[in-house]
Amino acid sequence: MSLDLTNKGINTRVTHAGENPDHEHGSVGIPIYQSSTFKFEDSDHGAKLFTGEETGYIYSRIGNPTTNTFEEAVANLEHGYGGIATGSGMAAVTSIYMTYLGSGAHMVGTDAVYGSSRMVIENEFSRFGVESSFVDTSDLNQVRQAMQPHTKLLYIETPANPTIKLTDIAGCAEIAHEHGAVLVVDNTFMSPILQNPLLLGADVVLHSITKYINGHTDVVGGVVIPKTETEFERIKLVVNATGGVMDPHQSWLVLRGMRTLSLRVERGQENAKQLAAYLEAHPKIEWVRYPGLKSHPQHDLATSQMKGYGSMISFGVEGGVAGGKVVLDNVKIPQLAVSLGGYESLIQHPASMTHSNMPEDERRAAGISDGLVRLAVGTEDVADLQADLDQALARV
Ligand SMILES: *Cc1c(COP(=O)(O)O)cnc(C)c1O
Repeated sequence: MSLDLTNKGINTRVTHAGENPDHEHGSVGIPIYQSSTFKFEDSDHGAKLFTGEETGYIYSRIGNPTTNTFEEAVANLEHGYGGIATGSGMAAVTSIYMTYLGSGAHMVGTDAVYGSSRMVIENEFSRFGVESSFVDTSDLNQVRQAMQPHTKLLYIETPANPTIKLTDIAGCAEIAHEHGAVLVVDNTFMSPILQNPLLLGADVVLHSITKYINGHTDVVGGVVIPKTETEFERIKLVVNATGGVMDPHQSWLVLRGMRTLSLRVERGQENAKQLAAYLEAHPKIEWVRYPGLKSHPQHDLATSQMKGYGSMISFGVEGGVAGGKVVLDNVKIPQLAVSLGGYESLIQHPASMTHSNMPEDERRAAGISDGLVRLAVGTEDVADLQADLDQALARV
């Protein structure tokens, strides 16, 4: 029998959520059910599985025991009805678009969302007659003004990447529901440890598992977690039919990574707090954006809507792009790479890397300045990280 996790703390839930499907051998580790299909006991059993009279496994695109364990575990952390694991974070985003949008529908989104989340709508879904408005959702008035009678989806990312601007989740839930739209939150940057959008009124939360949840920089994956059974069934049907599912080995790896999520998140955030304060006081740093700093314009919202401030920092180095390049090329511990949420620190320059496809004026309008450097803080010793930044900044 699985452990009753009602009223248990987040660390206990991270450690134990998700039933072990091995009832035969008593394995403590979760087995990998590397099978595409599952045999029926007899013809009646097969028929009953298809009608839903009995529950069980049929075919791994529809459901797999290893994947299910991961889905159950992650849904528990987000207080959702269930989880739907996908092959990548973008497969999770696209499944949301396919569920809620169609010809003649309109969506409102955060202007500085993950690059591909915006591109898929503007370049691909537009071909099927989907309309969109991407606005600065940190301002609820802009959200309200962008809503149309045919708006079906309000899609936000908070904190947004890489501006570290926050959006008020409860405020957006109210606006979406007044208009009969659903609110979906990309919670990748916070992980289920630091922010739970479903408890703040969102209808669906999604993650790129590639980042904090897996946390080991070795798997790409995603998950969608709806609040209600109705939304769960709708989205699951779309994912199963269109096929962007997670495979059993991938599920095993991400579940293994997730068991240490709270430890990694806590350490990364302790390190980030100290580095943000260090950078803010450094004479060669022009500005720092970190929700835990009093200088963050939405520090109060961060404190009320999040359970911590995370481990993503953006900053501007004296000398703009040139100064930033000196830092990128001279740090020894943070590796120069895109992505975030792994055990190791990574550093990158959005204007020339992750957001280089965005038109310059749109990029600047979204608050991504030319000199912005993004640092994803890992679980190293903070003294080593600080000494490393110090020697790199001395060369600017
Ligand atoms: C990485 C990322 C995605 C896309 O996820 P993939 O796993 O790369 O497909 C979506 N949203 C955010 C906020 C991300 O950081």
